[in-house]
Amino acid sequence: MDKDPAGRLQKTLKTGELKGVNPPISDSATFAFNNSREMIDCFQGRSENAFLYSRHWNPTACHLSNALAALENTESAWVTGSGMAAITSAILQICNSGDHLVASMTTYGGTFAFLKNYLPRFNIDVSFVNITDIEAVRNAIRKETKLIYTESLSNPLLQVSDIPSLSEIARGHNISLLVDNTFTPMIFNPCELGADITIYSMTKFINGKNDCVAGAICASSEFINSLIDITTGTCMLLGPVLDSIRASGIFKNLFTLHIRMQKHSENAFYIARKMHEAGMPVVYPGLENHPDHQLMKKLMNPSYGFGGLLAIDMGSAEKANDLMVGMQDAGLGYLAVSLGYYKTLFSNSSNSTSSEVPSDVQDKMGLSQGLVRMSIGLDHDIEKTWQTMEGILNDIH
Ligand code: PLP
Repeated sequence: MDKDPAGRLQKTLKTGELKGVNPPISDSATFAFNNSREMIDCFQGRSENAFLYSRHWNPTACHLSNALAALENTESAWVTGSGMAAITSAILQICNSGDHLVASMTTYGGTFAFLKNYLPRFNIDVSFVNITDIEAVRNAIRKETKLIYTESLSNPLLQVSDIPSLSEIARGHNISLLVDNTFTPMIFNPCELGADITIYSMTKFINGKNDCVAGAICASSEFINSLIDITTGTCMLLGPVLDSIRASGIFKNLFTLHIRMQKHSENAFYIARKMHEAGMPVVYPGLENHPDHQLMKKLMNPSYGFGGLLAIDMGSAEKANDLMVGMQDAGLGYLAVSLGYYKTLFSNSSNSTSSEVPSDVQDKMGLSQGLVRMSIGLDHDIEKTWQTMEGILNDIH
């Protein structure tokens, strides 16, 4: 059943001051009060609607946050200066020294590095598990565990997290489930499936223009308020805030996301199917041979397809390089990290966005040296794209 995230988003649209169809940009760092009583009330959390200072809340960031909360069906949201800012702030808000968390072994390399190398500085311990093995997740929980961390569609292996089953484990232990939904906005609504917190790198599909880095945390009002508490909130005290000019740009792009996701998915499915029919080792959750295909069908909002990401194993880093250079030279896209752009982007994961993951862990998670992750763009004529790509692939094999 499609729960219609785009419909919820549309309902948030209303004209702004002076009937402008876009909300005004509030480029003020600080906000005036009528008297000191009002200011004291605001500092003491008694006037919820007042703006105090833009590291805390800004009206433009607030418009974007409200739209994201509508998209995810959460009570609230808060926008950050990067996806990593969202991930690290949410984790540091939940975990204290001595705590433990259970995390998927396959995550974005920057997240893996934060969990593996940075959290030990604060005496926070992490167990990495195969997140598709629900028993392994259950067995990894300890009495100090505060959090289960995963990506709805993992980077770069495109494994699907069984969010309802993970949520059941989290609820049973009274701990939080945090899901990074960067690869699959609109397609999954993790908090509707049982997650407590949904995280985004908005740098990717949500903004879709590759002109800035940004992130978001969608959760209960209680959690968002805790992040911006003026005496104890991680976001208020570490200050990873999104600038209002950027928030305004992302807000406008958010309202074309449903159409972009449909086209990214349609094009990626086309290329994946052609690769599969040609006998190539392609990983795409829309294909029936993908181990999590049925699970994805059960959890997804079907109107938006299986997503814009696919991976092909070229067998070696050299062949991966030949494919990427061939595609870039033919004008099919860019040999660049990141994803969710209107041009196709590709990178050799083990030597780029997963290079922070040590090679023994890469082996354990099944990440081959020849894996090329592609974020398929919004190409108008995907058949023509495939004809060119097929020629390049045939020349390499
Ligand atoms: N989460 C995922 C799944 C990512 O792929 C990335 C970046 O590639 C991030 C988070 C980090 O986001 P940002 O680069 O916006 O900090």
